[in-house]
Amino acid sequence: MSSAQSRPFDAIVIGAGAAGMMCAGVAGQRGRRVLLIEHHPAIGEKIRISGGGRCNFTNINAGPANYLSQNPDFCRSALARYTPRDFVALVERHGIAWHEKKLGQLFCDDSSLGIIGMLKAECARGGVTWWHPCAVERVAREGDAFTVDTSRGRARARSLVVATGGLTVPKIGATPFGYRIAEQFGLQVVAPRPALVPLAFPPDLLSRYGDLSGVSVDAAVSCNGGRFRENLLFTHRGLSGPAILQVSSYWDGRTPLSIDLLPGVDVRAWWATGTSRARLDHLLATRLPRRFAQAWCEAHDALRSLPEIGAAARDALARALADWRVMPSGTLGYAKAEVTLGGVDTRGLSSQTMAARDVPGLFFVGEVVDVTGWLGGYNFQWAWASAHAAARAL
Ligand SMILES: Cc1cc2nc3c(=O)[nH]c(=O)nc-3n(C[C@H](O)[C@H](O)[C@H](O)COP(=O)(O)OP(=O)(O)OC[C@H]3O[C@@H](n4cnc5c(N)ncnc54)[C@H](O)[C@@H]3O)c2cc1C
Repeated sequence: MSSAQSRPFDAIVIGAGAAGMMCAGVAGQRGRRVLLIEHHPAIGEKIRISGGGRCNFTNINAGPANYLSQNPDFCRSALARYTPRDFVALVERHGIAWHEKKLGQLFCDDSSLGIIGMLKAECARGGVTWWHPCAVERVAREGDAFTVDTSRGRARARSLVVATGGLTVPKIGATPFGYRIAEQFGLQVVAPRPALVPLAFPPDLLSRYGDLSGVSVDAAVSCNGGRFRENLLFTHRGLSGPAILQVSSYWDGRTPLSIDLLPGVDVRAWWATGTSRARLDHLLATRLPRRFAQAWCEAHDALRSLPEIGAAARDALARALADWRVMPSGTLGYAKAEVTLGGVDTRGLSSQTMAARDVPGLFFVGEVVDVTGWLGGYNFQWAWASAHAAARAL
């Protein structure tokens, strides 16, 4: 390890995921001598499994409104200076074919491996040195530089970039390492929790709706200021699907979800005459999945025709269809979550460079920071943009 020990670096990047590889490649191409350290045997695992294997690598509409953070403005500068179009230009320079799926979500035509290959090639172009697989044992600040003790020996550089991501999917390399480094250097960490995650039903709802696993409803789901009109999917544990994953990031464990089961439908006008002899679940089955309509009506004591139900109860049912209150019992946790909400508190960081305000040379990029995107390519765009901001300052 002696050659490694004596090797001078300008920057050490810990974590070779989306943000770490982007940061290392860009800094290397700016002439910085960069060491990139990754502990997991496989590189870019989250990129590989993302977007169902096709990596939803950005969203052309990405803007500050699509991110959650204690400081919603923090992401503004980095997102403005490295845009989805910049990333698309990079993808195209590497000849990776892509398409828009829906709602501005851009995916690889072929495989997410193309994005990993591209990032590795960018690192090679920047002359980045890899230590991989390599465990980081200790980080310290000595004088105006950082020393990093690893399973491959000691490295030293005046800048240290922490790109170790969040806590989701621990089996492919996630660790709380970045939060520990932040705390070691006196930065605050906003308590992390799983986000973009399926939600579990409590036993009573599970016994009513658990059999509907696989049934989906086009719904508008709201909670604590987040509102998403997309598919809601019943699972054998509770609820999932894009609308639920999105709203899970807003769910605080205390507030019930409000689900509009017939968004855009004026239910009262539809039922105005109230003369249909059909049972309500049969009527609802013209707009909702039949088995769900039946289970929902059973739960609301409404397996009857509108005239039998009566005007007052009809009104209450119309309200309940537009505002079905569901209180999940919890989330399915980090093993099933796409991202981690919370992370390194942005109050301690520069939004221009991602540098720690009070620790010269220390940077945090990507998901380890308290900036969490919606579902749909926003999280990768934050990884690219925050990494780019730091790389320009190294
Ligand atoms: C199943 C799934 C699908 C997803 N799909 C999408 C999608 O399609 N679009 C989208 O925008 N986002 C998606 N995401 C979210 C996206 O993958 C992350 O937000 C993004 O990868 C974050 O980038 P990052 O570089 O900050 O962290 P990561 O990509 O998680 O990289 C962190 C790296 O640090 C390494 N590391 C951790 N601890 C240490 C340590 N102590 N020492 C050395 N290395 C360490 C890890 O092994 C990892 O390689 C998905 C996430 C999951 C789980």
